[in-house]
Amino acid sequence: MTKLFDTHTHTIVSGHAFSTLEEYVAACKRLGLEGFATTEHGPAMIGSTDLIYFYNLVALPRLIDGIRVLRGVEANIIGHDGSLDLPESALKRLDLCIASYHEITLPPAGKAEHTEAWLAVIDNPLVDILGHIGRGPFLFDVDTVLKACKQNNKVLEINNHTLSSGFMQHNCLEIAKACRRHGVLVAVNSDAHFSGHLGEVSAALKLLNEIDFPEELIINRDYSIFSAWLKERKPWISDL
Ligand SMILES: [Zn+2]
Ligand SMILES: [Zn+2]
Repeated sequence: MTKLFDTHTHTIVSGHAFSTLEEYVAACKRLGLEGFATTEHGPAMIGSTDLIYFYNLVALPRLIDGIRVLRGVEANIIGHDGSLDLPESALKRLDLCIASYHEITLPPAGKAEHTEAWLAVIDNPLVDILGHIGRGPFLFDVDTVLKACKQNNKVLEINNHTLSSGFMQHNCLEIAKACRRHGVLVAVNSDAHFSGHLGEVSAALKLLNEIDFPEELIINRDYSIFSAWLKERKPWISDL
């Protein structure tokens, strides 16, 4: 995937990642990619940044050294009612919101609770991407959630970090097959915590190749395709 636009990356701002934003920009140039999204963990993640960081992301230039950098967040789901750790006023200022479950910010409950939480997250118009939905402890009803994704034009993540780093996974293959079946868009991304891992999506692509996943469902295969999708969702942001 030579023109991939990586939609999920972390810098030192997240408190447990190891590169700066400028190091990601340099890595992006080395790889010959158009850009990437910077998506730090929301404030509920231990060691991450405060709310003011997200309000002030608009201070970033649209192009840094010629590289397009989208202003994003990986918000934490902090309640099984689907509540997030960023208020609407902050989310509205961002280009991209990924919402994810993390055990460290919310202990797993049961399959019914996780399914309800995902449905509430999908209902939130300010959430764009459901993050690493295949992680082990957070089981959910796959068909129910994916049908809602399709109806609400949400993207589901095929997260390389989750697939390659030994996180307990549940039915990632089943989820990918269900995306194909329901025609749900996916974002293939690195979830890099080090600039050298920007654009590293080989485990995610291997999974998709195994099931002949249609490339047209990969929304971030090119920035122009991804930004067209995002512009429709965020008409109030004029310069994507
Ligand atoms: Zn995450
Ligand atoms: Zn992440």
